[in-house]
Formats: sequence, C-alpha cells, structure tokens
Amino acid sequence: MTERFSGSFTQQEPIPDEAIEAALAVLRHGRLHRYNVAPGELSETALLEQEFAAQMGAKYCLAVSSGGYALATALRAVGVQPGDAVLTNAFTLAPVPGAIASVNARPVFVGVTEGLTIDLDDLEAKLDRAKVLMLSHMRGHLCDMDRLMQMCDAAGVTVIEDCAHTMGAAWRGQLSGRQGAIGCYSCQTYKHVNSGEGGLLVTDDEMLAAKATMLSGSYMLYERHLAAPGPEVFERIKYTTPNVSGRMDNLRAAILRPQLRDLDRQVRRWNERYAEIESGLRGTPGLTIVERPAEESYVGSSIQFLLLEWTPEQIAEVLRRCADRGVELKWFGGAEPTGFTSRYDSWRYAESERMPETDRILRGIIDMRVPLTFSLDDCGLIAGIIRAEVGAVFQQ
Ligand SMILES: *Cc1c(COP(=O)(O)O)cnc(C)c1O
Repeated sequence: MTERFSGSFTQQEPIPDEAIEAALAVLRHGRLHRYNVAPGELSETALLEQEFAAQMGAKYCLAVSSGGYALATALRAVGVQPGDAVLTNAFTLAPVPGAIASVNARPVFVGVTEGLTIDLDDLEAKLDRAKVLMLSHMRGHLCDMDRLMQMCDAAGVTVIEDCAHTMGAAWRGQLSGRQGAIGCYSCQTYKHVNSGEGGLLVTDDEMLAAKATMLSGSYMLYERHLAAPGPEVFERIKYTTPNVSGRMDNLRAAILRPQLRDLDRQVRRWNERYAEIESGLRGTPGLTIVERPAEESYVGSSIQFLLLEWTPEQIAEVLRRCADRGVELKWFGGAEPTGFTSRYDSWRYAESERMPETDRILRGIIDMRVPLTFSLDDCGLIAGIIRAEVGAVFQQ
C-alpha cells in the first residue's frame, strides 16, 4: 500500500496563550484604536513598534494594516509619482506589482535566477530605467545583497525591501530589511507571525519614517508613537503629506508582541523541517534543489524545487499524483494564474518584455508550504512521496 499524508498544508499553530491573554485585555478595555489611550497609557501598537525597531536594530518602525500597504506606503514615502518606473522582481507575489500599480507607477520587471533570486545582471542592465527598486525576497531567497546594494547605491537607486518571507532571515549576519532604505514585513496568517492581517515597516531615515507615519493616518497624533522621529521632523512635512489610512489596531498588535519575542525559536523549528524535506529530496532524478548561499540565513517556512525542462503535462501529472497522496504542491509558474501564481506576465495591467531565460525557470518552479504544525516525521514522509512521484513521472 502506498503511504498517504493526511495533514493540512494550511493549518497554522494556535495563537500562543500569552497573546490570547493580551488580546482579551484589549477587548475588555475596548480601546482598540491605536490612538485611543487612557491617561499615561502606551498603546499595544506603539509598544509593538518600539519592540520591533529594537529587534531589527532600526531607528524607526511603523505598524500598518498589511504588508501590501507597507509596500505602497514605502513607495509614496520615497516620492514615487504617477507614471514613474519602479524596478521589481519578475518572480514575486501579486501584492508587489500591485503596490506599484496602487500609486499609478509602472513596474519594470527584472528576471529571476535558478537560485530564485533577482538576476543581478539583468538588474544592472535595467538600473538606468528607474530611481526605485522594490526588491522582493520572494519565498525567502536572498540575492547577493552586497553586490545589489553596491550597484543600487552607485546608480542612485533607492531600495525598498519586501521581506514578507524574510522576517528573521539575514545576509552575512545583517537582518533582512535593513540594507535598503525601507524594509517591509507582513504579519498575515501565512507569513512568520500571525495577526490575520498586518504589516510592519522599518527605516533609519527620519524623513521617510515621518512621512510613512503621516501617510498611515496619524491625524497629527504622531507624538503617541514610540518609534517615530521627533515632532520637529513632522513639522516639516505635516501640511503636505496626505492621510491614506492604513493603521494597525491594538488587538493585532497585542497578538503580535509575544509572537515576535518567540521568532528566533520559530525560525529554528522551520529550518529543522526545511532541512528534513530538503535532504529527502536531494538526489531525486529530474528534480533541481534550490541551493542556499553560505552568506544567507533563511527561514524555511516554504520550500521550492525546480522541474526544469519538464513539459507542462509532466508537471501537472506530478502535482496530481502528489495531491492524490495528500501532498499539496503549488506550480508557481503555471501559465494561467490560479491562487498564488507568481509570474510577471500574469499581471496584464503592467507592460512587460519577454524574458526567455526567466520564463524557462518560472515554468519549472514548484512550491510547498511548511507549516509548523508538521512534525519532522511528516516532513520525511512528504519528501518521500514527492521523491517517488517525481521519479515515477520522470521515468515515463
Ligand atoms: C504576502 C506577501 C506580501 C504582502 O503581504 P500582505 O500582508 O498579504 O499584504 C508581499 N510580498 C510577498 C512576496 C508576499 O508573499
């Protein structure tokens, strides 16, 4: 009898008790709006910002309503205007080009490598086309950040980092989100901390921090922030920065604070699971492992592998066979956008040039979530199933 996996790929761990208690306290006092504080009280949201700034070694932090909102706010704060070009990854998730479109700017897509990072040669060739790069560390893969920052600094290109999958990751010891001008994180259920929806933005630049704070809808109450610049900075921009409401509330902040304190432990647990799956897949004929550079410390909350040069029919067959055995794989490069399809030509509101090398890689990207509710045995079983089914189709 063939073994089947019966777990769920979308089942999260419960919210920790400490976070539930904190949420109940907020519900009991009823002051959910971040600026609704009793005399002398510091809001959960302001405390979350202060703690996350410290955790990331950033001067400033702003909590907002979603990761996508953080990205759009970052674009506005750095001054992207309607019609401007913004460089971004050809392989990323829809909210990234969506954030660019939301400020009526134009994404200019940069190709992907077999390491699933931005193609730095392609970026170099396109650097003169825009003043801003929205760099997506898609699925947690960090490119050579030293080379990228050197190139962008030399060209005067401002880097905004999309760290939706790299909260807790680092490049040569420097935390992800701290190399660019602004780092943006998502606290959505499928990322590294879970408040349902939510986003965080960090920067060391006082002007960007002040603008982002005003943009998020601070109603001139910016003095209630604990990780924002002083009032003198706000004085310079407060009359000219629109309010594009997208604040975080105290309920979400209360849920997030204990989770962030536990992030390092969760990262270790993700990486144990990732290592188990990766080692189970290594050496499967026809399957290419995505090798991780030594400079990168990553968070294995999902795993990717490549079926390069496979036909769409073969890939569909692998997915069908794995699904029959309870293993949910996502074909990120499928031609028709479904669910989480992540390729540049599925966003037809944005013009793009064909990128044949990128297309070749995108067509072969298979993705799998690694929820912490999987045991290490589950991970071994899943890898075995993929190995067997990829092998069976490869031999045909
Ligand atoms: C989830 C995600 C986002 C946006 O986060 P939301 O909180 O869902 O708006 C941005 N980029 C990538 C790569 C993501 O996966």
